[in-house]
Amino acid sequence: MQAGDRIPLETERGYHVEFQTETPLLQRPVCPVHLGFYMTPMTGRLRVAGTVELGGTSAGPNPCQFELLDRGVRQYFPKLDHASAKWLGFRPSLPDSRPVIGRSRNSKNVIFAFGHGHLGLTLAAITSRLVASLINGDTDPLTTGFTPDRFPS
Ligand SMILES: Cc1cc2nc3c(=O)[nH]c(=O)nc-3n(C[C@H](O)[C@H](O)[C@H](O)COP(=O)(O)OP(=O)(O)OC[C@H]3O[C@@H](n4cnc5c(N)ncnc54)[C@H](O)[C@@H]3O)c2cc1C
Repeated sequence: MQAGDRIPLETERGYHVEFQTETPLLQRPVCPVHLGFYMTPMTGRLRVAGTVELGGTSAGPNPCQFELLDRGVRQYFPKLDHASAKWLGFRPSLPDSRPVIGRSRNSKNVIFAFGHGHLGLTLAAITSRLVASLINGDTDPLTTGFTPDRFPS
């Protein structure tokens, strides 16, 4: 990392497929747990997303993962048209499944807030509160378990 801290960041690659739907097929997000993805109704479409693949950030998408989602969702909605959108995303993940929130060991004017794994959207609000408290010079007790120095340098 450019600030000089050694952080064992990995990526959990996740896949996403969408289908246009005239009428909503679901009223709420649904997860067939054994298949490892969520089906989420969006306006005019159904979003199918999930899976975990350990494969680094440089390799392109694996078509088998898209097929897995496509086959899985058709167990519930066999009449779906072809997918209208597909993408692969990188979930930045740490070995202890916790984000890094705190000051850099080597550059005290750098504050880290990354590595939220599967929950970056969910945790954005609380993380920004913690970052604001660090900028203000307060020590929120919540940040204790997330500092970058929990990893050996
Ligand atoms: C298919 C899918 C569905 C998701 N669904 C949800 C959801 O329902 N709810 C939710 O809260 N979150 C969800 N997420 C996760 C969420 O999108 C991430 O947690 C969030 O984007 C990461 O936030 P962050 O601020 O920690 O990211 P940052 O730490 O800012 O990192 C993001 C950047 O890091 C890069 N990166 C990833 N791994 C590495 C690495 N090893 N080395 C270098 N760079 C790397 C990425 O390319 C990206 O540019 C989903 C992700 C995917 C892929």
